[in-house]
Amino acid sequence: MSTFQQLGLNEDLLNGISDLGFETPSEIQQKAIPVLLEEERDLVALAQTGTGKTAAFGFPMLQKIDVNSRTTQGLILSPTRELCLQITNELKAYGKHCKGLNVVAIYGGASVTDQAKQIKKGAQIVVATPGRMKDMISRNLVDISKIQYSVLDEADEMLNMGFYEDITDILAHTPTDKSTWLFSATMPKEVASIAKEFMYDPIEITVGNKNESTSNVSHEYYLVNGRDRYLALKRLADANPDIFSVIFCRTKRDTQKIAEKLIEDGYSAGALHGDLSQNQRDLVMKSFRNKQIQMLVATDVAARGIDVDDITHVINYQLPDEIETYTHRSGRTGRAGKTGVSMVIVAKSEVRKIKSIERIIKRQFEKKDIPSGMEICE
Ligand code: ADP
Ligand code: MG
Repeated sequence: MSTFQQLGLNEDLLNGISDLGFETPSEIQQKAIPVLLEEERDLVALAQTGTGKTAAFGFPMLQKIDVNSRTTQGLILSPTRELCLQITNELKAYGKHCKGLNVVAIYGGASVTDQAKQIKKGAQIVVATPGRMKDMISRNLVDISKIQYSVLDEADEMLNMGFYEDITDILAHTPTDKSTWLFSATMPKEVASIAKEFMYDPIEITVGNKNESTSNVSHEYYLVNGRDRYLALKRLADANPDIFSVIFCRTKRDTQKIAEKLIEDGYSAGALHGDLSQNQRDLVMKSFRNKQIQMLVATDVAARGIDVDDITHVINYQLPDEIETYTHRSGRTGRAGKTGVSMVIVAKSEVRKIKSIERIIKRQFEKKDIPSGMEICE
């Protein structure tokens, strides 16, 4: 077990770490930080969600860039706007004592002009979604020809979302002698092939079993009549009055509908999905973070990777198509060493899916009954 001091981080960063109250580096941080500080190498790192990957690439990048220069030296690509903002805020907090540091977030749905202005002021680090980044490059609003460190964060998700071509395009505008650090929770063949394509002799780090979901999350399923799904959700919420939860639906429409119903029925809920304006999304995320909203009803895309402290329950209102998506959903709870529960509401026709999820995540589900609701249980 090592300390942050022993990893070779400088005073400014150690001060930032102590302000944040981080005591010991997580496993991925212990493994990645020293090698990234010491070597100019590519890296492929595989670690479950909630294991502290942002700091694993953030600290080395912050230490290696020159804050006295206005040149953009670090580029972090991330799948969603929420994640871009989250990473940007984390980096700013880590680097609070690094004088002159400028980190800028670049993502769709917000003003290009404003973002271009911020970059022009001199951003050493740019955190971007691939779509907006590509757009800004083609309009000459950002110069990434002097990038020394590039990060592909949540690489599996970016590829899932179809960003392969944008990523290729963006990396083609960066110098060939930069280092590329790829972080992913899972290693499907698409990620393996992008690693092969863009990286030279990478250092490989794996933390835990690559398909195992966070071990401090327990998994439960509730078998109900399909038509009673919403009733089941309400009973679960009633039985857990202190619930602070993300509820996943499959479509934007269902997400909106369920959130509206919950609000109508007097619950503290909000919706997060791609049909909302950026303003609405920011607002709902802010209320959720501040715990003014107890239940955030969300689509997978909108809630991907969001890191909100103390989420007690993840509720799968409907199961996702892909098992990997389940891992990402349940990873919203049980973060930073806390415990959490991932609940699935299933109809009889889908119960076989539970078995396949169990095989992949190597964890058993507990079959439970909807509290005081025998009549709606199958
Ligand atoms: P990942 O990207 O692996 O899903 P994050 O980087 O978002 O995980 O980190 C998850 C949470 O853990 C964040 O709230 C972060 O601030 C916190 N965290 C990261 N490293 C540490 C640490 N060493 N000690 C305590 N908390 C940490
Ligand atoms: Mg992350």
